[in-house]
Amino acid sequence: TEDSSTAGRGGDVRLTGIGKTYGSFTAVHPLDLTVPQGSFFALLGASGCGKTTTLRMIAGLEEPTSGTVHLGDQDVTALPPYKRPVNTVFQSYALFPHLDIFENVAFGLRRRGIRSVKKQVEEMLELVQLGEQARKRPHQLSGGQQQRVAVARALINHPKVLLLDEPLGALDLKLRRQMQLELKRIQTEVGITFVHVTHDQEEAMTMADTVAVMNAGRVEQLGSPADLYENPRTTFVANFLGTSNLIEAEVDSASGGELTLKAGGGKLVLPEARNSAGATTGGRVLVGVRPEKISLTHADDAGEIPGGRNRITGRIADSSFIGVSTQFVVDSPVCAGFEVYVQNIDRDARLVPGAEVVLHWNPAHTFGLDAAQSPL
Ligand code: ATP
Repeated sequence: TEDSSTAGRGGDVRLTGIGKTYGSFTAVHPLDLTVPQGSFFALLGASGCGKTTTLRMIAGLEEPTSGTVHLGDQDVTALPPYKRPVNTVFQSYALFPHLDIFENVAFGLRRRGIRSVKKQVEEMLELVQLGEQARKRPHQLSGGQQQRVAVARALINHPKVLLLDEPLGALDLKLRRQMQLELKRIQTEVGITFVHVTHDQEEAMTMADTVAVMNAGRVEQLGSPADLYENPRTTFVANFLGTSNLIEAEVDSASGGELTLKAGGGKLVLPEARNSAGATTGGRVLVGVRPEKISLTHADDAGEIPGGRNRITGRIADSSFIGVSTQFVVDSPVCAGFEVYVQNIDRDARLVPGAEVVLHWNPAHTFGLDAAQSPL
């Protein structure tokens, strides 16, 4: 029997030194990446970062300039797309308009010469919850339904890996959200590896077990959605996945697993465990905190704030009601001209623009970044 701890399983995707240049332009710098079998993996980044090129190299649609692609133990680098145990779903669903839904899904089986397709096609249509639509034509379905047909068609030949290239890009926001949950459910049910390309951070966070954040042809950080959000290691990742409220500070002292920082005349605490850049006494560090971790108290009530919290004083510059919360923009000398966004569900009539406030949060929610980077 195979030793599963060392041998690649069929649905593992292993990229080794894979890179792509176009003339003198490097679209993807050589990168190493392993996607474990059965996981939902997202390549996330802004337009032009190289995520689609990476996906296309896994599919065999783009020839790498360097490196190898393994699926399980098989080196597929030299194989054409149709000989790889992968299938791709594109943003343009590319359904056959003249065939009904049943025949669209059956296509891959029929092409392989399989005659009795009924049971398999019906199972697939059940999986994507389109059992009732089998005899309709693509144009009679909604965008979300058409996308589900494309998924069923891609899954019918039991690929080991399904590649999804911005599959929800053509859908409106509400439908996108429904389809995110739907794709996640399908992936869990079939248990095969999904590699999903998107520029939408919420989409990647909602669906993926692991997210690779790409920037300028490199993977900047790889991790679970929660880890990337709570422990970003670069300003790019911190800012791409939400608002990060970055503050420039100097390390004053270090003891008991904590760094004490000086920032604009105030004092902040950064737990050593969250000091990813390894700042030391006398050095500089960029510290961040997510907006929803911050509480906001009117300066008149500052005495009620419990001890041991990081505090910043400031003045409300702006506030906007956004349903579940109110978003405040606070100007503070500590933030050296930066604005601080705060979400706070407490209603307090005094919390209006111009009001003096104290922002405070549990130091455990502070993260430290290399100060050599631009905070923006
Ligand atoms: P998008 O979401 O806009 O597709 P992306 O992150 O998926 O962006 P890629 O499509 O991977 O980015 O492209 C990465 C870079 O490589 C881009 O700057 C793009 O202009 C460049 N590129 C892609 N294909 C070619 C090509 N055939 N010739 C030259 N440059 C290319």
